[in-house]
Amino acid sequence: MWEELGRLGAPTYVLYQLPGLNTVLREGTPEQIDKIMSMRGTGKQMWNSAITEPSAGSDVGSLQTNYTRKNGKVYLNGSKCFITSAAGTPYLVVMAKDGDSDELIFSEWFVDMSKPGIKMSKLPKLGLKMDSCCEIQFDNVELEEKDMFGREGNGFNRVKEEFDAERFLVGLTNYGTAYCAFEDAAKYANQRVQFGETIGRFQMTQEKFAHMATKLANMRNMLYMTAWKGDNGLMTSGDAAMCKYYCANAGFEVVDDAMQILGGYAIAGEHRISRFWRDIRVDRVSGGSDEMQILTLGREVLKRYR
Ligand SMILES: Cc1cc2nc3c(=O)[nH]c(=O)nc-3n(C[C@H](O)[C@H](O)[C@H](O)COP(=O)(O)OP(=O)(O)OC[C@H]3O[C@@H](n4cnc5c(N)ncnc54)[C@H](O)[C@@H]3O)c2cc1C
Repeated sequence: MWEELGRLGAPTYVLYQLPGLNTVLREGTPEQIDKIMSMRGTGKQMWNSAITEPSAGSDVGSLQTNYTRKNGKVYLNGSKCFITSAAGTPYLVVMAKDGDSDELIFSEWFVDMSKPGIKMSKLPKLGLKMDSCCEIQFDNVELEEKDMFGREGNGFNRVKEEFDAERFLVGLTNYGTAYCAFEDAAKYANQRVQFGETIGRFQMTQEKFAHMATKLANMRNMLYMTAWKGDNGLMTSGDAAMCKYYCANAGFEVVDDAMQILGGYAIAGEHRISRFWRDIRVDRVSGGSDEMQILTLGREVLKRYR
């Protein structure tokens, strides 16, 4: 589905909330599940997870947002940044550390975004402009014990599983987008005439298509193999990191070559390739940077030979 929608030019990343529903069903209380599920089919955004902070990006363990308990209530304080969908979603699952403990205990809270003490502002961004990306401040936001999402202290284990699914889907999205750009460029190369010939007749254009086709085949094979592993419970964090890293980079190269083939029409005007180019570049950072994927994969590969 992701592949076909991507091939038609759709921004498939907006569907990331779909697999997130498994997490809600697994970790949510009946009340939290009802709140999310009541919005099913309405077209509205349902929820997202807020982990990143201004001073805690790749190093998520250094986050400062904390929760403290007083008189039977829970109080959330801190700030988050780069949070997708936050302007549209009524609930956010917020990662915070236990401010009453000397140990590092990370838990998640199911936060109703209409509560007092929450301030949010939208950030401008390079691509993926069809959804919001926000900074959020939590100033003594009052929560109940029943608002805990999942088990206390299990925050990082919960997101780890989610990260692998998301990273695989980012790879798929990048592949679908690159496929669409490739097909747009191929059609254009066969009809644009310069120097009395279609530009597809020039060997320098053909070379680009040979490289693009090779990268697309590599992406597809890697993704299908990983999908098979996922179906059989064999997908590892390294597999997901490999898909995200390779497809975000190879996908970007394919889109960039496609852009070159379309010449000025891809740069000026509103051709969809310029949207793909901006969107796909974001994925080398969001959801875990290239460098973090390489570290995850490199560690896992070497562990197999220990
Ligand atoms: C559009 C967008 C949407 C996002 N949506 C969400 C969201 O919904 N929820 C959420 O919680 N977060 C979200 N994020 C945050 C995203 O996960 C982080 O941006 C990402 O993890 C990188 O963190 P950072 O930007 O702080 O960069 P930093 O961690 O500061 O990294 C800066 C650079 O240093 C490199 N670097 C850092 N540490 C190392 C190291 N040990 N070795 C080598 N290189 C290193 C990085 O790879 C990167 O190149 C989003 C980000 C973007 C851009």
